[in-house]
Amino acid sequence: MKLNPDGCSVAGCSIVYAPSGQAGEYAKLATNPYRGCGTGCAYCYVPGVLRMSRPEFDAAALPRPNYLAALAKDLRKYRALGVTEQVMLSFTTDPFNPSDMSLTRPTLTAIAEHGMAFCTLTKGGSRALPFLDMFRPDRDAFASTLTSLDSDFSRKWERNAALPDDRIATLKAFHDAGIFTWVSLEPTLNTEASLAIIERTHEFVGLFKIGRANYLPITRSTDWADYTQRVIETVNRLGVKHYIKQDLQKYLPAGYHNPMYIAQHNVNESTKANTDATIRQDARIGVVMADS
Ligand code: SF4
Repeated sequence: MKLNPDGCSVAGCSIVYAPSGQAGEYAKLATNPYRGCGTGCAYCYVPGVLRMSRPEFDAAALPRPNYLAALAKDLRKYRALGVTEQVMLSFTTDPFNPSDMSLTRPTLTAIAEHGMAFCTLTKGGSRALPFLDMFRPDRDAFASTLTSLDSDFSRKWERNAALPDDRIATLKAFHDAGIFTWVSLEPTLNTEASLAIIERTHEFVGLFKIGRANYLPITRSTDWADYTQRVIETVNRLGVKHYIKQDLQKYLPAGYHNPMYIAQHNVNESTKANTDATIRQDARIGVVMADS
């Protein structure tokens, strides 16, 4: 049992894994409890990645067979090696999807019980509220993807997602409960809409992750250089944390401060230090046991 060269993921684990490519800009670790999604985003590229037909992928999120047992097996390895990183749900489905959330609570519970933290990224809006009490302010994060403030636009592009107002109200509810929140502005389908989302939500959103859209006719004439300039003017004027994704970085001024990862929790260092110390102690015991 050993860590991969990234220093965070465990070699041989596939249920809790290190996402690669553009997903890797969002999280060091992730897990996907469901196969398919059911949110029905017209721009979703996941069916192609998973080699599923779009109708099958869009039909529903289905629990992955034997997922919880496989998750526990991976989590024991992470714990034994002292990894306390956040695990993100999810890149290839939505933890608060419209069809099946039966694995979401046991997944979050198992992650926390093994000393790790979690972050959920969703378009499920208030479907997440019954889970709010599981989130720990000093460890976990709640995130939502927003592409528009307009309900009709959302119905067209994300037909089974919660409407934008519902997603925004849910972000505020998590923020008001002391949970770190962030917003994914990707894909950017309409640059004016993304700028308006920042203006509307920045007081209760701790971080914006900003990308573009590729290969969509709706953005064929978008001036991404102009968008990048306007977006950095907006976030700096409002004083909000942000990460500009690699696709837009070529438009940033030279030397622009743009850290890929910042802490996605509301810091209570004494609590976190105690947790980390316990995990490190357990890891030492685990390593001794594994070696003996
Ligand atoms: S919520 Fe995410 S995984 Fe689900 S259809 Fe939309 S883009 Fe795809």
